[in-house]
Amino acid sequence: VAAAGRLYTEEDPLVILSSSSLKPAVTNSSSAWIVQFYSSWCGHCIQYSGTWKSLAQDVRDWRPAVGVAVLDCAQEENYDVCKEFNIKFYPTFKVSSVRQLLIDVLQNHTELDRPERCPPLRPHRSAELLPLLGQRSDHFTAVIVEEPESYVGREVILDLLQFSGVEVKRAVSSELPLLDALNITVLPSIYLLQPNGTHTHLHSEKPQRFFFSSLLRSLPGVARQSSSSVPVPVDVQQQSSEPWREFDRSLVYLADLESGLHYLLRVELASHSTLEGAELQVFKDFVTLVAKLYPGGGSVVKLMETLSDWLLTLPLPKIPYQAVLDLVDNKMRISGAYLGAELRWVGCQSSRAGLRGYPCSLWTLFHVLTVQHDARPDALDNTGLEADSAPVLQVMRRYIRTFFGCQECGRHFEAAAASGLKSVHNPEEQLLWLWQQHNAVNTRLAGSLSEDPLFPKAPWPSASVCPSCHEERNGVHVWNRDGVLLFLRRHYGAANLSPRYAA
Ligand code: FAD
Repeated sequence: VAAAGRLYTEEDPLVILSSSSLKPAVTNSSSAWIVQFYSSWCGHCIQYSGTWKSLAQDVRDWRPAVGVAVLDCAQEENYDVCKEFNIKFYPTFKVSSVRQLLIDVLQNHTELDRPERCPPLRPHRSAELLPLLGQRSDHFTAVIVEEPESYVGREVILDLLQFSGVEVKRAVSSELPLLDALNITVLPSIYLLQPNGTHTHLHSEKPQRFFFSSLLRSLPGVARQSSSSVPVPVDVQQQSSEPWREFDRSLVYLADLESGLHYLLRVELASHSTLEGAELQVFKDFVTLVAKLYPGGGSVVKLMETLSDWLLTLPLPKIPYQAVLDLVDNKMRISGAYLGAELRWVGCQSSRAGLRGYPCSLWTLFHVLTVQHDARPDALDNTGLEADSAPVLQVMRRYIRTFFGCQECGRHFEAAAASGLKSVHNPEEQLLWLWQQHNAVNTRLAGSLSEDPLFPKAPWPSASVCPSCHEERNGVHVWNRDGVLLFLRRHYGAANLSPRYAA
């Protein structure tokens, strides 16, 4: 893969080819390839790059079967190869048309010349499917029944390609014996054959690709195959030394927020023996933010207020961190100020030691703070933070850049904030920006080694949790902004914080 081209960078979910890498990449490949030959000086290629990136994003999970790539014909080293491929002009297409074209190309391969990682996309016959009813199996089988010209079934087959635990097949409406046996009257429909031999019609909020795929990905035991060959842990109790804490995924747990603050104050920051200059300012701003916006007004707020007042009245340009620790441990015995000194992960617990926990709690904390700021925009008045149009994100950005132990995360977040925060003008845009940025990180990390199979990294909230957050427009999935806003305000709002397991 060549160095980044001008319109596309290695951050994009596609492969940047050059004359030397094109043929080795596509010849005898186990995947099919769709390569856009573009020219970096051509105006509509520049405008079209957004569409091509959307396509690459849209079919990202089809990766074993299909690779999306670009090659810049304006680069001198590529002149010859563009001539050889007879590239004379640069047309444009809609994402949904290219996606359908891709499926047609994949399906038109014969059994013999099909790239080896492409699944069969042909429809199944009643005679092949009916014998499966009532049979036990070690996985789910989903049957999508649809009109012959519909692409939904094939898109869902490809969307689930990287997932184990479910096999997707399609059948078309002319298979009357199947329609009769399953009592299917609405198309497209999705029918589920369970491992125990029973079968049911699956209810999907909308009969669309995104909803079908999300539903199947959320079935018990269905997980993205790890990109390494590390086996997926199955039994939670055996893998983690911590006792498993039952919890409800629709709630946010104060125990996670408190454990996160405990780690941040007593472990992450404690590696700095003194704080001064810019570091001290970042720390002060973080403490002020939490003191003003942490919901609940309980012992944690009392402690953060005490800490904040102490830091603000302190005339020293440099403080020993031990003094902060003494305060956090409440050596002064200020009544009602307390922060538990143990890690008790609940919504952030993991199936394997070393995953989730602290970074999960940090995201959660800042989502809660953005939602609190949206609910109480005056809360930061007279703190010096109120002048900024995105005060919570600016403090988060500075904290992550200065103190967060994962430097690579810090670099990515700083790059996103540097370019993205200019467009944030009010508390509503602030909470949406963080949600969007978190999703961008989820997408980048899907299938990585830091993914806990019990908590797959995926666009959040899923369609089953928030149907009104999702829509399809011109055949492409889009978020419904109002639906997302409503959901975030509720999910991270003070009324949804559970005190269960908290100190
Ligand atoms: P997390 O991503 O930590 O999410 C925690 C919880 O938040 C989820 O369980 C879900 O309930 C909810 N949630 C998920 N998505 C959203 C959303 N879009 N909006 C609101 N709530 C949501 N790791 C890396 O390997 N590389 C990085 O570059 C990187 N950058 C990071 C940057 C920041 C600022 C932070 C705080 C963490 C970063 N991490 C990075 C860590 C990574 O994002 C995860 O936090 C970590 O892998 C643990 O994942 P998790 O499964 O607990 O889910």
